[in-house]
Amino acid sequence: MKLHFLGTGGYHPTERRHTACLMLPEIGVIFDAGTSFYRVEKLRQTDRVQIFLSHAHLDHIVGLTYILVPLLRGGLNHADVYGSAATIDAVRRHLFSPPMFPVLPDYRFHLLEEHADIPVPGDGVVTHQPLPSHPGGSTAFRLDFPSVGDVPARSLAYVTDTTVDGTYTEFIRRADLLIHECNFSDDEAEWCDRTGHSHTSQTAALARAAGVGRMILLHVDPQLDGDDPLDLAVARSVFPETELAEDGDVREF
Ligand SMILES: [Zn+2]
Ligand SMILES: [Zn+2]
Repeated sequence: MKLHFLGTGGYHPTERRHTACLMLPEIGVIFDAGTSFYRVEKLRQTDRVQIFLSHAHLDHIVGLTYILVPLLRGGLNHADVYGSAATIDAVRRHLFSPPMFPVLPDYRFHLLEEHADIPVPGDGVVTHQPLPSHPGGSTAFRLDFPSVGDVPARSLAYVTDTTVDGTYTEFIRRADLLIHECNFSDDEAEWCDRTGHSHTSQTAALARAAGVGRMILLHVDPQLDGDDPLDLAVARSVFPETELAEDGDVREF
């Protein structure tokens, strides 16, 4: 199964990075709907999509306004949106308030508080856990597939917009793939607590402590540029299986 990194930047888009969106086109599963969400339609293979929102900050939801045309024209018949009660309320009342965007697309909204396990195609299950340390909170997601025939069980965790605070280590334990935000390099570490984000060496320490298979970093501060904004050597000295995602990357999962 292919995992597409549509947007890998934080806060606002840059020439190199749009904001948050991950997609598994074969099963129609999407995590977050930032500015890169416009790339979903070109990759979409299913007539239903399930969109999991980490929180309601604009760099994670603004793309929900981009799906109106495929929903109206047909081809996309069902769009299920999952988020905390606070996130869904903000999306409905503020993002889709008439002066902001005049039409509420035919989304089916679901509150995470009412669904502990959410089934996805391929016998997968999405689970979730609150991340309290980001302003307004955020939600971590985990996607698990059972073993089928010769294919072993596999799992990914998506954790964004949080400090590394130890409250979710068990939730991501032994995930094959951890996708974690890393807004800051270690040089900017002082900003983490002030903004509710993470920096390079602490994400690597977390990956090692949680025993994950590999880690891919994203949600990079738009002030950071260049090919190595997070100083990957620092991360790999602690957790060698660390990569930095770029927009357009595709990984086998
Ligand atoms: Zn963000
Ligand atoms: Zn945020």
